[in-house]
Amino acid sequence: MKKLILSLGLLLAAATLFAQEPVLGAVSKEVSGNEATISGVPQQGSYTPDFKVDGSNGKIRNVILMIGDGMGITHVASAFYANGGELTMTNLRTMGYVCTQSADNFTTDSAASGTAYATGSKTNNRCLGTSPDGKALKNIPEKVVPKGYFAGVVSTDDVHGATPGAFYAHQPNRKMVAEIWGDIPGCYLSFISAGDSKVYRKQAEATRKAIEAKYKVVYEPGSYDADRVLYLPPTVKCGERGNYLPETTQMAIDFLAAKGGKGFFLMVEGARIDKEAHGNRLDGVIGETLDFDKAIEVAVRFAEKDRHTLVIISADHETGGMSLKSGNQEPGTVAAVFASKGHSPMFVPLFAYGPRSRDFACIQQNSDVSNKIVSLMK
Ligand SMILES: [Zn+2]
Repeated sequence: MKKLILSLGLLLAAATLFAQEPVLGAVSKEVSGNEATISGVPQQGSYTPDFKVDGSNGKIRNVILMIGDGMGITHVASAFYANGGELTMTNLRTMGYVCTQSADNFTTDSAASGTAYATGSKTNNRCLGTSPDGKALKNIPEKVVPKGYFAGVVSTDDVHGATPGAFYAHQPNRKMVAEIWGDIPGCYLSFISAGDSKVYRKQAEATRKAIEAKYKVVYEPGSYDADRVLYLPPTVKCGERGNYLPETTQMAIDFLAAKGGKGFFLMVEGARIDKEAHGNRLDGVIGETLDFDKAIEVAVRFAEKDRHTLVIISADHETGGMSLKSGNQEPGTVAAVFASKGHSPMFVPLFAYGPRSRDFACIQQNSDVSNKIVSLMK
């Protein structure tokens, strides 16, 4: 904590010294080829929960699955060092790794890995909620809602993006945007929030009417008295959406927890870590990972209070073949090198907190994570 106060003090001092610059002026950034160095990222602290029920065999009521799209171990490490050596996710005590290969490719895309997390079955790249031969695979909401649970998704991608889409849609190709939106009225989710209101207005009128017959469509965060809510913010873009991800994670938890029943399943995606890594933008990777960590803090604080909530944080794949070259934790300097502008087949990290967290402290397939979640939601 002292370190944090000192760093914040230095940051404030730097901000005062260059008072004509916005706060961002304290961040310095150098890019040369596939290498980037960044320092002076505004630090945000972290949260350490108590570990009273962590790893216990206690009853599970709720599961919150948090997917950092493209978030490899280096993305976590670069955010950790840039943030002065702390993150909420790295304060947790249970870690594992996840193998992400798809059915037809050693390097997965987000549709196949999202489908594995959502359905417990591996499929081909580009398939969304279907098997390689196009058959619908049951997703977690379809498996647990009939048992008496409620389900929701939150993402900084579009509603039809591969990761949120895998939890409600069944289409043979992730590019079938109109059909993916068309799967919403019949899906099992009580809460959906992702980008954005402009994308929604572009969908066919018949699709919107069918959605509005089932969902209260809202454009502002808040607490709504409705069976099902679709919350569409004006934007989910980097640097433009404010605290959308942590705030909407809280909104989804409050909405689903109020439903009662046996409990809930919530998937939260930090979608833009991937997009920043595709562009080899180190500052964007760090900024998006720190934003995702704020949403993790919201989930962890809820789980700590609830005592029957399992939080699982992982990724669908690594993006950018990212490695650290050098750094210095005190000023938060990180130098990284990117091996590619695409996805890589590396293991991705998994962090878990809550009862049964130790079930995930191993090297496992993305599809295994899904099947374990379903077996815990009895
Ligand atoms: Zn990607």
